[in-house]
This record gives sequence, structure tokens and C-alpha cells, in this order.
Amino acid sequence: MSDLNYKSWNEECAVVGVYNIQDASNIAYYSLFAMQHRGQEASGISTSDNKKLFITKNKGLVTEVFNKEILCNLKGNNAIGHNRYATAGEDSSADAQPVFANYDLGQVAIVHNGNITNAKEIKDELIKEGAIFQSHMDTEVLIHLIAKSKQQTLTDRLKETIPKLKGAFCFIILSRTKMFVIRDRNAFRPLSLGEITNKDGTKGYIVASETCAFDLVGATHIRDVEAGEMLVFDKQKIQSHIIMQEDPYPCVFEYVYFARPDSKVFGRLVYDIRKSMGMELAKENPVDADIVIPVPDSGVAAALGYSKQSGIPFELGIIRNHYVGRTFIEPTQEIRELKVRLKLNPIKEIIKDKKIIVIDDSIVRGTTSKQIVKILRDCGAKEIHMKISSPPTISPCYYGVDTPTKSELISANMSNDEVCKYIGANSLSFLSLEGLKNSIGDGNYKFCQACFDGKYIV
Ligand code: SF4
Repeated sequence: MSDLNYKSWNEECAVVGVYNIQDASNIAYYSLFAMQHRGQEASGISTSDNKKLFITKNKGLVTEVFNKEILCNLKGNNAIGHNRYATAGEDSSADAQPVFANYDLGQVAIVHNGNITNAKEIKDELIKEGAIFQSHMDTEVLIHLIAKSKQQTLTDRLKETIPKLKGAFCFIILSRTKMFVIRDRNAFRPLSLGEITNKDGTKGYIVASETCAFDLVGATHIRDVEAGEMLVFDKQKIQSHIIMQEDPYPCVFEYVYFARPDSKVFGRLVYDIRKSMGMELAKENPVDADIVIPVPDSGVAAALGYSKQSGIPFELGIIRNHYVGRTFIEPTQEIRELKVRLKLNPIKEIIKDKKIIVIDDSIVRGTTSKQIVKILRDCGAKEIHMKISSPPTISPCYYGVDTPTKSELISANMSNDEVCKYIGANSLSFLSLEGLKNSIGDGNYKFCQACFDGKYIV
């Protein structure tokens, strides 16, 4: 997929929480920078110095929203942060996070990712009771529920209100002195816990959507936050409460595309899994060819795996320009095709007169694949065999990922042969569901794969 299409398969947001670490705003900033791929529309950080909360949020990339002075003004050793991915028509700065609120127990700032599937129902109910909402964000629903609760502490209010929410979500909540971290009952979206030793020897903690954030700030990964777990960080200690209990079904698409290959997600290194997917693909779909090339960057690890398993040499036949900004966003066919050309440039000398296997992670609309096949043909490729390191995507996601509708998903509407003809390749094959399972291969495969099989858990 290579994130080249306007509105392809887009992760919605990254979250980070920092507790008892000196210069917490800096740690949150670098963590958000490491997780920029999970959202580029807006960024925000809120901090606490145990007396009051500070907040800065705005539209733009992490490096555009923050500078040294802003980070200096975000005082304290506790922080939460957010990178926002905007769904179509909802990109106003009013929807940037953290969301800040004053209520009867004091101040809170909240960040959240994912999708609360019953948010509309709860919101309608709250509006009937007189509540006023200022944004489109599900986070506001939680604020109203917390404010309405009669429980005496925020911990008890969260224990009471969070189990009312359904769907895929991670929340990180900052009060003046505490931080609360919550992962939904099915653990759809990843959330990991790490620690840092401060200069004075005390322990500090960090929670982030991906462990690549830990690497950048020198934190050690301890474990993942469990399904249905609430962690309460208070007085330099962590308390764990299981507030909802159901079987976990983490999102398998994190392994296919969303997560950075250098992150450990659901306990496994993403790079290793993508390589295994390529190896499985080679076992299932052998073909005679001269070279294996990836669609960069998302197809690289799988192409290495395919090459290793098949013995066919790996080449970087297409080079990606990383510096194309978010300029071409109009969803017209013409512009989409130009965008592919701007981002991917083939090396003619490698392609000419060769039988080529091209590895990509997925096909959404087919537009990108069609363009890639065309530019390779224009370079004189003899044969082009398109191989996809995941099963055909046939259903949209309702768990916090912005996806095209079913009618826009090419594999939901055409057979493999028809898709192959549409993109103009000599052959097209996908990894099977069984192959996907084998690639993850922990003997206990239990993931959400609804976008591949249409079986929704919630
Ligand atoms: S439907 Fe697909 S993208 Fe959505 S959570 Fe399930 S596996 Fe992930």
C-alpha cells in the first residue's frame, strides 16, 4: 500500500504517557517524533508539575508544533502526548489532543486513540440530559461520564465509567499528581510500558503506542499493558487494576503495515514478522524470476524474506523520495497517479529485460499497484509478478483505523484474476490467511483479522 493513496489504510493516532521523569515534556516530544507515522495532522502535550497542568496543542507535525521555548514552558515530571491522524472532514484544530477539562475533583488532560463503537449512543444520551459537546472526539464522552459519576476518586470514577465504553481504545489521563493508562478489553491497539532510571536513581515510567519511542529516549521495555487493564501511576509507584475482562484480539494489521519495523508489537519484533510473511509468501507462491524488489518502504522486510526463501536475488529496484510532503491531497484519480510518480522512482538499469517479483504489503484500491506496474513496464521489465504479503483486504475496519468503504476496496469487488488484469501484472498472488497465521507462528494465534475475513469481534 505504501501509504501513497489519499485515504488508504490509516492508523489513527499515537499516544504517550511519561511519569516521574525529569523534563517529561522533552521525553514526550521525542516519543511523539518517533511515532509520527501514526498521525501527522496535529500534535499536543500536556504536563503536570504536581500543582497544575500545562498544555500545548496545534495542527501540524511534531517538529512544527513544538520548539525549545514551548517545551520549557511545559513544566513538570509527568506528561501525556498525542499525534492525531484526521479522518476526512474532521481535521479542525478543535479536535487536536490532549483534551483539557476542569471538573469537581480538579483538572484532567486526556489523550486517546482508537474508536469507541458506542460513543454515539452514549453521546446522544448525554445530550438529552443537557451535556454540551465542543468537538467530534470520543474523548469528550469520557470527560462527561467522569464528571457525572458520584464516586469519590478519579480511580473509582474510571473503574465505573470505562467499562461502559465498547470498541478499540487506549486512554492516558493526567491529573495534577497521577497518571492513568487504560487499554480496551480486547487490546486491539498496541500499548507498551517502559522504564527509565533518572539521574538521581529514582525510577520513571513511559507508556507508548510503539516501542520505537522507548529506543529514542533510552527507555527499557518492561511489558505490554494488558487487555482491560488500568495502570495508576501515583507517588512513584504503579498499581494495576483489571477493570474489564475479555479475550484479547490485537490488530494483525499492525504487523502487516501500521507499526514501524523496529517496534516490538504484541511482544514480537515487527521486522521479524514481516520477513516471515515474505518467506511464507515464497513457499505458497513460487515463480521463476530474476530479481525480487520491494515497494518501499513497507514491502522491504517481506521482500527480504521472499528472497531468502526463494534464493532469488533482492534488489532495490524502486527508490522512494521521502521528502514529498502532504501537498497533493485532492482525491482525484489524476492527482493520485502523479503522487505515485513523485514518490517512487524505478532504477531502469536494474529493471530492464528482467523478470521481476514485486512485493507490497497490501492492495487497497489498486491505483498504486497499477501505477507501479506501469512505471516498471516503461523501464523495460520483461515480466512483473505482483506478490502481496497479506491476504486480500475485503472489509473496512471499525476499530480505530480509517479505511476506505467496502465499495472502494478492490478485492471486495473483483476476483484476483480481475485485480491482476486491472493492475496490468503478469501474475498476482496474496498471502493466505493460513500463511499469515504461520508467519506469526506462536502456536496461539488470536488476532483481529476482520479486514481480511469480515468477522468482526465487537
Ligand atoms: S479490522 Fe483490520 S485494521 Fe481493524 S483492528 Fe481488525 S485487523 Fe486491525
